[in-house]
Amino acid sequence: MSGYIPAKLKIMREEDSKLNVIVVGAGLGGLGAAISILLAGHDVLVLESASEIAEVGAGIQILPNSSRVLQSWGMRAALSLHATRPKQVNMRGWRGNLISSMNFQDSASNYPGTFYWDFHRASLHQCLLDRAIELGAAVQCNSRVVDVRICRDGERAWVVLEPGREIEADLVVGADGINSKLREVMLRREDPAIPTGDLAYRLLLSTSEMMKDPELASLVTDPQVNYWLGPDMHAVNYVLKGGKLFNMVLLVPDDTGASTLEGNVEEMRALFKDWDPRIPKLLSMCESVYKWRLCIRPGMDSWSHASGAFTLLGDAVHATLPYLASGAGMSLEDGAVLGECLSRITSKVSAEKQMALRVYEHCRKGRTEMVVQRGNLQQYLYHLHDGPEQEDRDRRMRMVPTPPREALAWRDPELAPKLLGYDHLKDDNHTFLHNSPPGAAEMLSHYSGQISHPVFAGNLA
Ligand SMILES: Cc1cc2nc3c(=O)[nH]c(=O)nc-3n(C[C@H](O)[C@H](O)[C@H](O)COP(=O)(O)OP(=O)(O)OC[C@H]3O[C@@H](n4cnc5c(N)ncnc54)[C@H](O)[C@@H]3O)c2cc1C
Repeated sequence: MSGYIPAKLKIMREEDSKLNVIVVGAGLGGLGAAISILLAGHDVLVLESASEIAEVGAGIQILPNSSRVLQSWGMRAALSLHATRPKQVNMRGWRGNLISSMNFQDSASNYPGTFYWDFHRASLHQCLLDRAIELGAAVQCNSRVVDVRICRDGERAWVVLEPGREIEADLVVGADGINSKLREVMLRREDPAIPTGDLAYRLLLSTSEMMKDPELASLVTDPQVNYWLGPDMHAVNYVLKGGKLFNMVLLVPDDTGASTLEGNVEEMRALFKDWDPRIPKLLSMCESVYKWRLCIRPGMDSWSHASGAFTLLGDAVHATLPYLASGAGMSLEDGAVLGECLSRITSKVSAEKQMALRVYEHCRKGRTEMVVQRGNLQQYLYHLHDGPEQEDRDRRMRMVPTPPREALAWRDPELAPKLLGYDHLKDDNHTFLHNSPPGAAEMLSHYSGQISHPVFAGNLA
């Protein structure tokens, strides 16, 4: 079954139900939320602290669930120009022995209309930015948000920018990433991200050198995603930009105190010198590298302010280890669900926003916690030392059909349908209709303004 995921049409609204929404952070999550909220018929201003809208020079894997979201935003044609569609994923032992493979097309066919796509982050980011602007987003760089204030009746919020300027909104969405300031504003306390004990070396190689080596050329000419699993470390690589670039990520024990810093190439090469000879060869082609300390954000009790004028999404709430390649996917899904919930709004009153944010959180909380936890399990499974546990992991990966909690998680019969088959439209509708927080049914059948709600008075800061 091929399937087709229709693009959502923009809702046209009267002024009295059109929210002025400020999205803080123009990362993948923030831009995705902007698109989704614009499609719901509201106005969006995106505030970004950096001097220009840009992404790190690295690759990103987009799984079927997030390809569904992106297509529903009308981005299929634009993204297809930049996507690499790898044939399969190969899981290898650290010495290069193939443990097991999974064909991506077969897997995606379980979720009709979806794809496994690989992108250069800048391409994906640019497509999201273009779509947001096409739909009417205003985007301001050099705009670091340091605080959010809620007005006494709870109907509006102000973001406070670094030089003290304030901008008013009906709703503020904090999408400011793993080191989120807005999370701390919401919690009214400091709340640093939690180190995982791992860090990532991220490198991009030009494939022209690789093509001269017969052992490496096939990694380019036959695009596949490769994982090598070894004691305390693993390596991932895949092709980008129609075969022009080769993305490599090395996940190793954390030896640093800072979150991002220039890495030492010699140090990195030494860690992998005894691995599959293709890895030292690839690393010998690398001239400089960055290392990223990997942290997580376990969930929050509440993602939104009681007023209904301030909420959070993406890494700010639920940053995960990248071992399921799902962090950005969760941020995009957050934006998609938030937009769906806000599409039901029929006036600007607080009770409607509160209801929308309650349903949003209800849909997203358990799912994103599942991903963070599974990322932690993948860390354990990927980094086993040689021995009985590693042998058992490899044996389970070779079983047909594969058992629950196997290391190739995209095939795990318990996880995969939930992770990859997720449909944000169905989740949102289902939550409203069958599993909704009190009052959602009334809102669905055109909110009448009678739902009682606590009114928050006062500032956050
Ligand atoms: C090594 C690695 C590999 C990964 N691979 C994958 C993968 O293959 N697939 C996948 O789905 N995910 C992957 N991820 C996860 C993914 O990158 C993140 O989950 C995703 O980028 C989070 O998006 P975000 O918009 O929430 O945050 P971010 O992308 O961090 O964006 C936050 C934005 O907010 C801005 N900002 C910060 N503070 C402020 C402020 N006070 N005011 C205004 N603006 C502010 C920042 O400048 C930034 O632009 C990977 C992560 C890592 C580290």
